[in-house]
Amino acid sequence: MNSENLFGECKKIIPGGVNSPVRAFGGVGGTPFFTRRADGCLIKTEDGKTLIDFVCSWGPAIFGHNNARIKNAIMNALENGTSFGTPCARELEMARLITSMVPCAEMVRMTNSGTESTMSAVRLARGFTKRDKIVKFSGCYHGHVDSLLVMAGSGAITFGTPNSAGIPNDFARLTIVLPFNDLQSLENCFKAQGSEIAAVILEPFPANVGLILPKKNYLEKLRMLCSEYGVVLIFDEVITGFRLSSGGAQKLLGITPDLCALGKIIGGGLPVGAFAGKREIMEHLSPSGDVYQAGTLSGNPLAMAAGAEALKMLKELNPYAELKSKADFIVSALKGAAKEKGIALQVPQAESLYSVFFNDEEVSNYDIAMRSSTKLYAKFFNKCLEGGVYIAPSAFEVSFMSLAHSKEYLERAAEVMVGALKSL
Ligand code: PMP
Repeated sequence: MNSENLFGECKKIIPGGVNSPVRAFGGVGGTPFFTRRADGCLIKTEDGKTLIDFVCSWGPAIFGHNNARIKNAIMNALENGTSFGTPCARELEMARLITSMVPCAEMVRMTNSGTESTMSAVRLARGFTKRDKIVKFSGCYHGHVDSLLVMAGSGAITFGTPNSAGIPNDFARLTIVLPFNDLQSLENCFKAQGSEIAAVILEPFPANVGLILPKKNYLEKLRMLCSEYGVVLIFDEVITGFRLSSGGAQKLLGITPDLCALGKIIGGGLPVGAFAGKREIMEHLSPSGDVYQAGTLSGNPLAMAAGAEALKMLKELNPYAELKSKADFIVSALKGAAKEKGIALQVPQAESLYSVFFNDEEVSNYDIAMRSSTKLYAKFFNKCLEGGVYIAPSAFEVSFMSLAHSKEYLERAAEVMVGALKSL
């Protein structure tokens, strides 16, 4: 069956035809392609096409798809069984890797997704502080957690539902939403309600509304305010963790949160999440403390094998300069073409992450991001896809680079992307 037929069949028995909304191409139109297999930086579709992939499974595939070492690690683990429901030594290896690499991570608990990680971190912060209110920022996405689906990013924006139905007002009421990069509103909020706030949760580099760069000193000030008011600072590093540096955004910035949420890369392509942080907070988790959190498949041996191999490779290779220079190449090609053609384009970049906004203003918050042209983005996306380059199927997502993007493929992709821009 080709993608069109598969999608038609899926729509009959899977809501919207997909198991996660952004896959439906709602932001760019057309039928989503179905992937048959993926190797390195290439995706092969059920329609017999080969695409250069800059979505990389939305971040996990930092070494490219189907990496031989990760695959071997999974196969070795598979010999011993798929799930035990008891502790296993691989969990210790994973915990040691995370605590040795992530600055705030004195202790860590594994989960199965980013959503579970942010949900659990928020509950832990509430249990620890004995306070109920939390602060988030408009456009930040933290998974589909009830109290965090308020002015959320990612698919929630793409499909026009930043505030999901099904969230009781009584939950949403406890979530204070602030504009990112606005120091005054942050200070006002802390002055008025600081002693009632359990946690501030944020993506230190918001990457679910396109990419937004934090203004100078903004996060430093946030760190100081949280310490002053006894508020737990949670960095959601599901995207930035092990991507912006071997210790995530916190290591890159030199700002240590109290807790952080992890996912994507730490699973090596299998479904894994984790949250980690200061011992005095983490010890409040059940069974050592009174904040309940659990998972039948948490610490799964196959997932631990894949994730640990990925982290060991990151430690060995320290690939961050190389990843950044690959992103630099694409970003400068895009900026050059936009300038030449007189297109108002913003291409913010943080290490190997970048995004493309059709916007004449620098995008420093959600409101400005929303003023970008989604029409032009959809045209650009579809031109790229026609040319064999797959970028994020929404104007409000980022592009992911992998080590498997060789010079040859980067040059080919740049040519297609520049051609797409010039044709607009
Ligand atoms: N936090 C961030 C920053 C994310 O980007 C995502 C997913 N894209 C999540 C949390 C949720 O992770 P998951 O989809 O694994 O539940």
